[in-house]
Parts: sequence; C-alpha cells; structure tokens
Amino acid sequence: MTPVSEKARRAGVAVMIGRSNVGKSTLLNALVGTKIAIITPKPQTTRMSIHGIVTRDQAQIIFVDTPGVLKKTRDTLTKKMAESIKDSLDGVDVLLYVVDPTRGIGEEQRYALKRVRNEAVSKILVINKIDLKNPAHLQEYRALKEQFDDLVEVSALQHTHIEDLVQKIIPLLPEGEFFYPEYQLTNIPNRLWMAELIREKLFLRLRQELPYSTNVEVTALEERENGVLYIAASILTTSERYQRMIIGKQGHVVKEIGKTARREMEVATNRKIFLDLDVRVDPHWMERLY
Ligand code: GDP
Ligand code: MG
Repeated sequence: MTPVSEKARRAGVAVMIGRSNVGKSTLLNALVGTKIAIITPKPQTTRMSIHGIVTRDQAQIIFVDTPGVLKKTRDTLTKKMAESIKDSLDGVDVLLYVVDPTRGIGEEQRYALKRVRNEAVSKILVINKIDLKNPAHLQEYRALKEQFDDLVEVSALQHTHIEDLVQKIIPLLPEGEFFYPEYQLTNIPNRLWMAELIREKLFLRLRQELPYSTNVEVTALEERENGVLYIAASILTTSERYQRMIIGKQGHVVKEIGKTARREMEVATNRKIFLDLDVRVDPHWMERLY
C-alpha cells in the first residue's frame, strides 16, 4: 500500500446544478461545515460569489453554487439556458446534479438533464432531503442513475451522507496542487467573510429599520496568546441617528450582534475569538469602496 504522504494530491472544482429550493445553499454549508452561503432579507448582502472549500488529507474540492442556472422563467427552454449551463461548466471537474424528491421531474429539468448528459465531465446525482419520509418522487429520480457516474442520497439539513459525497468526488478530481491554504473555507479572504457575517447579524437584528448605507469593516485580525483570534471591526453608518439605533440602550443591540457573530466565527474557525466591535459615523465609507 502506498503511504498517504506519497499519494499524489488532487484538486478540482465541483459545481452544483439544480433548480431553486432543492437545497444547494444548504448543501454547500453542510459540506464546508459552517454557514458560508449567507442568506439575509437584504438583497445587497451577498455581493460576492462565495465558493466553499473542502480539504481532506490529500485532496481539495472547490464547491461552486450556481444560483439561477435552472431558474424557472417563462422562457426556460431557450438557448440561453443551454448557454448558461455551458458557461457554468467551464473549468469544472465534477458536476453535482442536485434534486428534491418531493417535487417531480418537470419539463425544465428534463431539458437540463438532456444538456447535462452530453457534457464531458464526471457527474454525480445528488438526491437531497432524504430525511423526509417517503418523498413522492424518489423512485423517479433513482431511475436516472444510469445517466450519472454515481448517485448519493443525502440530507443537507441533517448532515446525512455528506462525507460519502465528498469521498465520491475525490477520485474524480485531477491530480494537482491545492488552490487554497488548507484552513481556508471560502474563496473570499477571511476578513471579508467575517465582515459579511457581522453585516448579516446586523441586518437580521434590525431588519427594515436599517438603511443600505451601513457597512462593516474588519480593521484588525491578529493571532493572540493561547490560540485566540483577535478581531477588531467597525460598523459604519452615515448618521448619528443610525449609530444610536445600532448601539441600542446601554449598548445592548451591538452587544447582541457581536455575541451572535462571535459564536458563529468560533464554530467556523474552531478557535476562540475575541471580537472588538464598535459603531462609527462615517459618511465617507462608500467612497472608499471605489
Ligand atoms: P437552493 O435554492 O437550492 O439553494 O435551496 P436552499 O438551500 O435555499 O434550501 C431551500 C429549502 O429547502 C430551505 O427551506 C431548506 O431549509 C430546505 N432544505 C434544504 N436541504 C434540506 C434537507 O436535506 N431536508 C429538508 N427537509 N429540507 C431541506
Ligand atoms: Mg441557493
């Protein structure tokens, strides 16, 4: 047997395709082991396309979600859809076709499957939501197995068979060096990811009351003693009225935002976090973005 250290490394890109609500974002989060696909009511929040990175021993998989590739519109069965599938397969090593067995195969899916079948990449059929009892269309999807290289049945919500999926993808990747450091969870730098996380907590806490003109900047990220990660961040807003609102009575709002963000960072990084969060009025923060 070849010792692990002499085994060639593998690295590649796996793209998720499937219509909306099949659970792609949930699956991405389950694969990475933390919530990286951040969803909030404010549309501006996810301004970057976030990829999930999974590193195991001698392999690294970069997961790419493709929101909207199979979005149902009036003219789904058009050339445009075929093109968008082609585009999203550029540079891809493994295709994950994600389905929801509670909903039957519709016309748009039949068409997508036909397109996908002709693509020269490895394909895995992922049947999600197997935690639901006797989903009505399970057999219908199982019957598609022969069109794929493999079939995995998972529950993204309950983290069932997620590692099986990872282990089935690895042999399908080309040999090559890793794209990212082993501890990195997403394609975006940790500072940006942390700022987005704080921003998400802020919008979840204050909802409609908060204007779009609010931003978060991570100003320091330092390794401290005993493995503690020190993070300093500022919530920037354009007026004193909003500053007062974000701080809250005796600072209880900002404290709560800081606490929920810190907890999530600790789970994600598997580190103790010290989060130093302040709220500043800075009418010019927008200008610095450009
Ligand atoms: P996307 O549109 O494909 O990205 O789907 P989402 O990840 O946003 O999930 C759509 C809905 O399906 C959400 O309400 C999820 O909670 C739910 N969902 C996702 N995965 C599962 C699963 O494994 N089991 C169950 N029961 N629900 C799931
Ligand atoms: Mg999604």
